[in-house]
Amino acid sequence: MPSPTRMMLHNEGSTTVLLQSLVGSALSAEVLPDVTAGPQPASGHVAEVFGAVPHTALGIRHSRLRDSTGAVVSENLITFRHSDREHVIPGGDTPFGLHTRRLGLYERRRIFSAGVTTDRFGMLPAGSPGRAYEIAFSNRVTVLVHEVFNPRFVATGSPENAPGAAPNDGPAAAAPAAADAHHQPRWPDAAQAERVRRVLGHVDPLVSAADCRALRSRLATPAFLLQAGDCAETFRDNTPRSVVNRVGLLRDMADRITAASSARVVTVGRIAGQYAKPRSSAVERRGGHVLPSYLGDAVNAVEFTAAGRTPDPRNLLRAHRESSKTLSFMAGSGVFTSHEALLLDYERPQTRRCPDDGNRYGLSAHLLWIGERTRSLTGPHIEFATAVANPVAVKLGPGCTPEDMLALHGVLNPRNQPGRLTFVLRMGRAHAYERSRLLLAAAAGAGLADRFVSDPMHGNGVTSAKGVKTRTMRAIEEELRAFFEACRDTGTLPGGVHLEVSGDDVTECVDAEIDDAYLAERYRTSCDPRLNPAQALRIADLVGHLLAGTPAAEPALSLTA
Ligand code: PEP
Ligand code: MN
Repeated sequence: MPSPTRMMLHNEGSTTVLLQSLVGSALSAEVLPDVTAGPQPASGHVAEVFGAVPHTALGIRHSRLRDSTGAVVSENLITFRHSDREHVIPGGDTPFGLHTRRLGLYERRRIFSAGVTTDRFGMLPAGSPGRAYEIAFSNRVTVLVHEVFNPRFVATGSPENAPGAAPNDGPAAAAPAAADAHHQPRWPDAAQAERVRRVLGHVDPLVSAADCRALRSRLATPAFLLQAGDCAETFRDNTPRSVVNRVGLLRDMADRITAASSARVVTVGRIAGQYAKPRSSAVERRGGHVLPSYLGDAVNAVEFTAAGRTPDPRNLLRAHRESSKTLSFMAGSGVFTSHEALLLDYERPQTRRCPDDGNRYGLSAHLLWIGERTRSLTGPHIEFATAVANPVAVKLGPGCTPEDMLALHGVLNPRNQPGRLTFVLRMGRAHAYERSRLLLAAAAGAGLADRFVSDPMHGNGVTSAKGVKTRTMRAIEEELRAFFEACRDTGTLPGGVHLEVSGDDVTECVDAEIDDAYLAERYRTSCDPRLNPAQALRIADLVGHLLAGTPAAEPALSLTA
């Protein structure tokens, strides 16, 4: 889904799941006591759903979802007939959606409006994105829902609703959003951006089409895919020592997987080009200041200053140079390269037609993937991926339906060739089994030749008490086990694992308890928290054992809390 659409959460009742994936943490529900609508004649949506006569028989339920820091992510007003209360409105504090699903009711929705609110809504300011809709349930109960989202987490993509434009955000609030709906930077100087694109159209290719084909052939076999590396590489850390450490870790992980399972492993780094990041918020706030978010070294600088955060297209040329440097340090390593094909100004000019087979290849990396936020079927990223013959991957989050997946398969791998398309499932541990099973069963039913891989990290982000982004080994292990179970139960070959790891001994992910003192020791990532080598090897051991169907020799953690 493109982000504005996703923002409006065009779904059939999995809003909470989608919000959790956007916010990156589990949400908790707060249900306020019911109130009774006054005796005045109903108007607006209330009249449309319940009739225009005066109502005293209507109740209103107000609820909120909060993230792990307590910030309000969304507010709901549900209007219902008192007489229907027991049939659909939960008593106590069960979130509404969960309760109705437990009742096993079918529902039909009619959206009345979607856009931005003009009034303050509970704790959320005017200008928040929201929608109003009716839900008609199969037991003939009807409710009206007014749902509003916190613009800090869920942006509409329309400029007047950019989070920085909220009315009471102080003087620094006018910071321009750094990226558009498709996560493309807004370069301040269009002519300069055009010059950069032209240069990139003539640079030496970073990889060869023959090596892209070689990886595609390897991925057409039952070998297991290990794809891992930094969330975001940085120019500063692109030293020979760092590359040696990163590649060394990848090789050690591959060896551990093979040792436990005898599987052949294809190793692909998130390396030599992983310099662009999609962000859930276009702006970042610190203290009273609001600046465009950091979008990766290929776009702007992590430094929190107006100059640092201004997108500069010359960073694209630097990203190419640094990637070339990384590749020279990696020479002979046997590790393929990959990154998220996010910046079309970087990727499009680096496509070349290969004289050997007449196909076009993206020659910035062997494998290119499309992220969860940019995988809209009609969006420019999928269009880009359809136009290149590389092996490609697409990330799928908990909001992905079997239909979405089959449609992506239809455009990206219409001839159903093994090795061409990998789906990377990143569901979050709570939904990993159920959501993975749904997609895997649909893929098996349709006979897809595509590879399925687990990314057990991106659905499991949590924030510490001090506001530091982290992930627990426990959640990562649980999601991995759930993925392997879903594979087993659907007769799918587990195709691989996708991880964020560092070659250095960082302290960014925790075991089970979130400990700010530990996180403060060596927290170095410029984006998402990575596994350190010891943690990465533990996960590799677990993967090897899950693959072999043997119990992990020493379970890293007990899975019962
Ligand atoms: C990532 O891999 O760093 C990333 C942003 O992933 P996703 O698209 O799954 O959120
Ligand atoms: Mn990441």
